[in-house]
Amino acid sequence: MDFELSEEQKMIRQTARDFAVKEIRPVAAKNEREGIFPAGILYKIAGLGLMGVNVPQEYGGAQAGVVSYALAITEISRECASTAVSMAVTNMVAEAICEFGTPEQKKKHVPKITSGEYSTGAFALTEPGAGSDAASIRTSAEKKGDRYVLRGNKIFITSGSHAGVFIVAAVTEKGIGSRGITAFLVERGTPGLVIGKKEDKMGLRASDTVALDFDECEVPASAVLGEVGGGFKVFMNALNGGRIGVGAQALGIGLAALDAAKNYARERVAFGKPIAEHQAIQWMLADSATELEAARLLVLQAAHLKERKRPFTREASMAKLFASEAANRVCARAIQVHGGYGYIADYPVERYYRDCRVTTIYEGTSEVQRMVIARELLRE
Ligand SMILES: Cc1cc2nc3c(=O)[nH]c(=O)nc-3n(C[C@H](O)[C@H](O)[C@H](O)COP(=O)(O)OP(=O)(O)OC[C@H]3O[C@@H](n4cnc5c(N)ncnc54)[C@H](O)[C@@H]3O)c2cc1C
Repeated sequence: MDFELSEEQKMIRQTARDFAVKEIRPVAAKNEREGIFPAGILYKIAGLGLMGVNVPQEYGGAQAGVVSYALAITEISRECASTAVSMAVTNMVAEAICEFGTPEQKKKHVPKITSGEYSTGAFALTEPGAGSDAASIRTSAEKKGDRYVLRGNKIFITSGSHAGVFIVAAVTEKGIGSRGITAFLVERGTPGLVIGKKEDKMGLRASDTVALDFDECEVPASAVLGEVGGGFKVFMNALNGGRIGVGAQALGIGLAALDAAKNYARERVAFGKPIAEHQAIQWMLADSATELEAARLLVLQAAHLKERKRPFTREASMAKLFASEAANRVCARAIQVHGGYGYIADYPVERYYRDCRVTTIYEGTSEVQRMVIARELLRE
């Protein structure tokens, strides 16, 4: 057993860290407060090869594996979780096209994702009436000759106003549940793809979350990703990997919150000494550090298994569940360590707290992760 990262993994982590400190740190708080989408930063991230960390070089990716991907997301998230989620979803879209796409689809879309030409990719599954219960989606795709006509609505789509390509779930055959769902690649600008309202969110305000309306939106039959009726597999597969990304993102936010709490505790004086010398504060820091270390190991284990092409569903859900819940506890403690200042926007911990909240919700809520883990356990 080897807990050491490879030279390549260390290099990717350092590249992401250096970039995040230099380019993201100075603007992250302002972008988040004012809801500014970091398009320029995402373009530079693509330039570093980080929009396709686990994508073959043939398609412009870094081909550096899933562990490197998790490390890069964590480092970007330490400075800006909004940037990290846009990056994570884009990597997820590129990987899904590489895994399920035809040679033409891969050649057409993946280099545009990895180069930054597309800005981002987007992943459109959730609907007003179907979130956790994703097999209940109602957006339909009717076959007409060599084309499909999409009709329906999606909500909460990350980077929806900026994406060059969307992976969209739609029902091609009614009444057979998840086996009737097909995945489609829909390009930005396709007539009938209407970008809707931008959500006003509690956190991650520099990421873009929008509704989509498919109003008689026609795509060629060649836009089917994977098999007709195989869309649920495409989405569940992508979400399994995506959970490693959310775990890594939560870990990054938690690490930033712990750093802030540590620094503040050394400086703030109460009862004649720095609060870091009070045992109650030390215990909060110790608990946070321990939980984040456990989260880190779970995230890296799931990434390692995926990289080795071994089963990783249970481990990815455990990593996402634990890292997101641990990071929420760490952010809450960081505010406690800051006292009243923790509640004020001049200090970064209130942003970490708000940003972190959604990590137990998207890409499968904590309850859904527990369902997945229990199902895998009971199947053994
Ligand atoms: C900021 C943000 C970005 C997002 N980005 C995307 C995106 O890019 N693409 C996309 O497709 N979606 C996206 N989503 C949607 C997200 O994945 C869903 O919100 C999430 O899956 C939960 O679905 P829901 O909101 O419909 O909640 P519901 O499914 O209605 O759940 C409500 C509550 O009931 C619980 N619950 C539901 N079923 C069960 C059960 N069987 N047992 C126990 N408890 C249960 C849930 O855990 C939750 O606590 C995003 C959401 C947000 C907030």
